[in-house]
Order: sequence, then structure tokens, then C-alpha cells
Amino acid sequence: MESDELIRELIERVAGDVGLIIYSLRPKKEFTDEQMSLELGTEINDIRRALFSLYELGLAEYRRKRDDETGWMEYYWKINYEKQNEVLRRELLKTKKKLEEKLEEEEMSVYYICVNGCVKISYEEAMECNFTCPRCGSMLEYFDTSVIIEKAKEEVTRIDEMLKNLK
Ligand SMILES: [Zn+2]
Repeated sequence: MESDELIRELIERVAGDVGLIIYSLRPKKEFTDEQMSLELGTEINDIRRALFSLYELGLAEYRRKRDDETGWMEYYWKINYEKQNEVLRRELLKTKKKLEEKLEEEEMSVYYICVNGCVKISYEEAMECNFTCPRCGSMLEYFDTSVIIEKAKEEVTRIDEMLKNLK
């Protein structure tokens, strides 16, 4: 996947459609919430929320300045396009770490599930209830995690490739 596509996906997830629109606008100079609100015809609160989400990601920054006329604090925003790869790398590494933890957990444990889908329990718990479901009394079946493990491994490989392409 291209890094542009990745960053769009991340922004949409964290800062929503409004965040994505602001990011795609590539504003040349600083702007206030109000200017952006007028330009996009979007509620100022939605603009602010999106901008602060971008800020938390590290993709936006602001400086505050008191407006001489109104005496109100104004936020002057700037989008950090040069941070894009750094932010992507951080997020990909975070996802990779989660996947690896999940992999470790799945590889270490043996699960049993109720044939009716009521419970998913450990081998020890399953033994304690004689391999019958504690809720409905049906038989418990061995739960094959190999598909989950395979998927997670593929995902880790995919992330590694994406990280390599970020350079
Ligand atoms: Zn059951």
C-alpha cells in the first residue's frame, strides 16, 4: 500500500472525514479554526475536534494569539506534512507490537469453544467442566487458532514491508 493511502486511512480513523478534508487541502499558510470553518462550510466545533485529533497524531501544530479587536484567543494552525512518514512509522510499529503480543498469546494457549458458540475457555477451565459448556451443557470442541495465527503473521509481514517502503 502506498504511504499516501496509509496516512489517509489513519487520518480518517482518528480525525474523521473533516480531518481528512483539511489534510487534503494542503493549506499553504497558517489558518484559524474560523477561516477553515468558513472555507469548508463546516461547523467550527467539528473543525476544532478534527484539528486537535491531527495535533495528537503529530500532524498539526498551533500557536495561540490574542485577537486585538475581540480580545479572544485565536488558534493559528499549521499542518505538518513533513511528519507524515514519522507518524506512519510510529503507528505501524504500534500495530505490529499489538499483533506480536496477540500471536504470543494465541500460540501459548489452547482454547475450547461451545458448539453453540456460548463460550471460549482455556483447556484448564474446559477440563474442570468435563468438556461440557458451563452455560448450555453442550459439548466443548477444540478451538483451532492456526488460522488466526497465520493471519496475524501475514499482517506482521505486510507491516514490515510497509515500514521498509517508508524510507
Ligand atoms: Zn454452550
